[in-house]
Amino acid sequence: MHGMDRERLNMVRKQLMRRNIRDRAVLEAMSTVPRHLFLPENVRQYAYEDRALPLSAGQTVSQPFIVALMAQALMLTGNERVLEVGTGSGYAAAILSLLTAEVYTIEIVPDLAETAQARLAALGYHNVHVLLCDGTSGLPEHAPYDAMAVAAASPWVPQPLRQQLADGGRLVIPVGGRDDQLLLRLTRQGEMIKTERLSGVRFVPLIGEHAWKEGEGH
Ligand code: SAH
Repeated sequence: MHGMDRERLNMVRKQLMRRNIRDRAVLEAMSTVPRHLFLPENVRQYAYEDRALPLSAGQTVSQPFIVALMAQALMLTGNERVLEVGTGSGYAAAILSLLTAEVYTIEIVPDLAETAQARLAALGYHNVHVLLCDGTSGLPEHAPYDAMAVAAASPWVPQPLRQQLADGGRLVIPVGGRDDQLLLRLTRQGEMIKTERLSGVRFVPLIGEHAWKEGEGH
């Protein structure tokens, strides 16, 4: 077995299974996707450590546990249409792509979107569609979504995302201040939306028309 493969299986056992990640498909996806290949060369050696890691443009790839927690909270069964806001490296999109039918992922930084798109294609994640736009407006063309994951912190739940949630659909999003947030799961039940608190988290800010404006909230 390649060293990175062994490290990845250790990561799944120590960081995920011991912290209540139980969804078998999520554990399987996290055991399969080569996280190191989504990272810049200089941090690849830390790929399977219990931490977020820097990308270019001041952005970060979330800690593996948080990626797994969000994926598990979406309760995917394999045939959903999923929207992710904040492609970053494309790692979380790759995880989601193994859990469902179609993944639309939106990134606002052109370099990151391009790199992620090329990498996902090269690694064979063909059911992921990367789009360069402001994810706070969602993606009305393909709405409604059975599941949505926002991978950047928002001061509130952007209204367009709420609107693009299918009946019974789940939206997982970190909401709060710039420094810390609560990871929420919203579930649409007809006209009603149920909200659950999952965990305290710390994400980079969601910058766009329906969230923070550049330079705001410090
Ligand atoms: N899921 C990613 C990590 C995302 S970090 C991964 O697995 O690597 C958050 C990302 O959200 C950053 O890349 C940032 O550029 C992006 N982002 C911030 N505001 C955004 C917006 N309005 N629309 C789309 N992406 C946004």
